[in-house]
Amino acid sequence: MFKKCPSCETKNIAIVTAAMLQRKTGSRDFYRKTDGWLDPDLAESFPKASAFDSFITVENDDNPNIIVCRDCHAWTRIEN
Ligand SMILES: [Zn+2]
Repeated sequence: MFKKCPSCETKNIAIVTAAMLQRKTGSRDFYRKTDGWLDPDLAESFPKASAFDSFITVENDDNPNIIVCRDCHAWTRIEN
């Protein structure tokens, strides 16, 4: 399972959903693009995922899971 930031390889990540990020930012980039950068304050506001967390289960591609890096502030969409 994908448990680190693909950009800087830290495990200091949060797992959120595209819908959650759209609500916080007003942007639809989380559906249109596969990766990008978040505002540092927003990226660090999400709780760190623990080794025991699993991805938020989704039944379709309408609300993909996204890894947010709390160190470099990159986001990466997880293709289901
Ligand atoms: Zn990172």
